Amino acid sequence: MSMELFPPEIEIIRKRVKRMTLRIRTEDERIICTIPWYVSKAETMEFIKKNTPWIEKQKHKLRQLRSLHIHREPGTLLYMGESYRVVTVPNATNPGIVNHEEMIIISSIDPEDAALRKEWYRLQAHEVLPPLIHESAKLHGFAYKKISIKHQTSKWGSCSVDGSLHFNAKMMLCPEHVINYLIIHELAHTREFHHGDKFWQLVEECCPNYLEAEKYLRTTGRILEM
Ligand SMILES: [Zn+2]
Repeated sequence: MSMELFPPEIEIIRKRVKRMTLRIRTEDERIICTIPWYVSKAETMEFIKKNTPWIEKQKHKLRQLRSLHIHREPGTLLYMGESYRVVTVPNATNPGIVNHEEMIIISSIDPEDAALRKEWYRLQAHEVLPPLIHESAKLHGFAYKKISIKHQTSKWGSCSVDGSLHFNAKMMLCPEHVINYLIIHELAHTREFHHGDKFWQLVEECCPNYLEAEKYLRTTGRILEM
């Protein structure tokens, strides 16, 4: 098999797909192009060239979002849409205690360590989300099977056919109203499995301001970093 060389800003993913698709990766603005096995390099380059205006538009959007400066300051963690100061106490546990009044997090983690930060969000999600999901399900009359919380790259949540709910630990960075919406969204899938009119009607009944949350996820949500 020969190696195909593409320009460094382009990443090719060959898959069992029927057509070519493009996306711009948020982290590094690389062009990710998914193509069927049989498509040649020339055809791929032609496809990318044809879509240059779209690519430039997406990159411009990403830069605008970045200029919002949703980045973490040293010694702090972004939590539920706000910046919390981290007080590192070696024998405090992980995730430790979140003090909402004083906006501090007392934990054993070093907030400058990216791997520890990620783990902190995961543990925090495990502590905070299950009771919120339980309450929301009870309030709106939904039944779910079980909850799983993991680090995911592209999705905020999903719902399996058997009624199991899956959530992305990264949602702990979002404001509370967005977290509530993400919970409602997946709970609503236990009754309406697809994104049809009936689904969105149900979401709106349970979460009247859901459009605001959707907007947050499409804009700020795309550049949040743990
Ligand atoms: Zn959905």
